Amino acid sequence: MNGTTHAAIGATSGFIVANTFQANPSTTILLVGLAGISGLIPDLDIDGKLRDKITLSHKVIQKTAQLIGILLVFYSFYEGGTPKENWVSIGIGLGIIVGSSFIRQKHMLTMTGIGVLTGGFYIQEQWLLLFGIYILIASFLPHRSYTHSIVGVIFFGIIASKFELALGIDGVFYACLIGYVSHLIGDLKLLPFNKRGIKLFLPISSKEI
Ligand SMILES: [Zn+2]
Repeated sequence: MNGTTHAAIGATSGFIVANTFQANPSTTILLVGLAGISGLIPDLDIDGKLRDKITLSHKVIQKTAQLIGILLVFYSFYEGGTPKENWVSIGIGLGIIVGSSFIRQKHMLTMTGIGVLTGGFYIQEQWLLLFGIYILIASFLPHRSYTHSIVGVIFFGIIASKFELALGIDGVFYACLIGYVSHLIGDLKLLPFNKRGIKLFLPISSKEI
């Protein structure tokens, strides 16, 4: 099942939640949107297609880091600090240039997770902080493992409940949770078009269902 289908099924389940909560039109749009996005989140894991879409291209980051490194090295010659200070900043500049050459697309999700986590910490929003942790962990997981399991549902459910509290809008928790669960249902091996299933009961059982 591709991302568009997952998002569409998620959005549909969000619409059902909105109707159940008798949400007004603007809240309905919000719930449909949130459920649609939640329907994509399980595929944030390492081989998921979504990963490459939500994160900045690693080439952009790589080039930016290299430029900063080069500028730092040149700046060190003109800065007029003590020789020791200059050598330290030349060292940092060269370190950035060399280090940035190791940046690959697969690291971008990890960096995004760290960014979201830091953002959540600064604005003191627990849901954002937890979501950062979710992304960070997902970036190290094999595809269709823990993000596609009951453990993943519980973790995401906690994020969704904190998110509802932060927004103060009824239905947000259910829209996010049901959108997420709809993704797992869409990936079940029971469905005729799925060759692979999901390991729903990780870590207790790694049987694909
Ligand atoms: Zn999936």
